[in-house]
Amino acid sequence: MKDIFQANMLCDKCDIKTDKKVAIKDGFKLRFFECPKCKEKMYHPLDLKEYQEFKTLRQRHFDVKLRMVGNSFSVTIPREIIEFEEKFAQMEKEMNNMMRLSLDEPGKVSIRFRKLVR
Ligand SMILES: [Zn+2]
Repeated sequence: MKDIFQANMLCDKCDIKTDKKVAIKDGFKLRFFECPKCKEKMYHPLDLKEYQEFKTLRQRHFDVKLRMVGNSFSVTIPREIIEFEEKFAQMEKEMNNMMRLSLDEPGKVSIRFRKLVR
């Protein structure tokens, strides 16, 4: 299947060919067309959808369960987070997917999913 980004896009206001560009936002690669004249931007629909899904997920608060296993604590991570991570990893294989668990302050544990762009 041909991707929309392989096509040439014309600016509907200026009727001239737009430039293909890539922006990095929060580790996400967002492809977009930009009109060299009026600077109007049109984002790749798939990239934008993924980015918005991520933003929505980030804004939500999840209750995680903490259990004591031997001398360690075990954290239960909601499935939606893992599924999103897996989907993202499949789509962007060149990106590293790192998970970091840290103790920010007493009584508060935070988990960070990090995406590194090479
Ligand atoms: Zn234009």
